[in-house]
Amino acid sequence: MKVKQNLRVRIDADAMERIWHWTDLAAGEFSCLGTVSDDLAVSNVQLHDQVNTAASTELDQDALAKFLVTHPLPERVRAWIHSHGRLGVFWSEQDEQCIEGLANDTYLVSIVVNKKREFKARIDVWQPFRLTFDDLPLEIRLPDQNLRGECERLFNAHVVEMAPLLMPDWRSGKPLQPGQQPQQSHRNGFGWPDFDDDYADWR
Ligand SMILES: [Zn+2]
Repeated sequence: MKVKQNLRVRIDADAMERIWHWTDLAAGEFSCLGTVSDDLAVSNVQLHDQVNTAASTELDQDALAKFLVTHPLPERVRAWIHSHGRLGVFWSEQDEQCIEGLANDTYLVSIVVNKKREFKARIDVWQPFRLTFDDLPLEIRLPDQNLRGECERLFNAHVVEMAPLLMPDWRSGKPLQPGQQPQQSHRNGFGWPDFDDDYADWR
């Protein structure tokens, strides 16, 4: 069964950057875990003791257990991320087993990446039905740098917004007369200039 809806996974920009650095540093595979918020945003990816080869990655179970026991919100650790190094991105038999090993009563976000900056993201749920949502979009969540106030100030200082009929005719530059419609210059009837008709001889 294929269920898509509007599911997508988001990931904090710094988390993604860490993943790419570890992907570059690893000769072969590597894996890490991250926390996931209710709106399916992955953050706080962390590297644990592990032994890797060109085609496998294995987290140290003791280190993992210790991490989960001491984690303030272990139920939020719902992202498993690993790299395939120079290989393509796909879900191997081992990956499927690993995902089953991480089965829980909510969901698991899995992301596989490689050195070519390719990736695949999926969500698995086990209850009330076993479902896999694969090939989900992965959206980078940029940090909120508190720029709203500054942007608002600059916007108000520099931008004048007029009702469409008061805008100058873009062809003549003359303000429109009352009741005059802006000239429609091209096929789609929008007000924006394009390079159809008489602007086509620019070459
Ligand atoms: Zn894999």
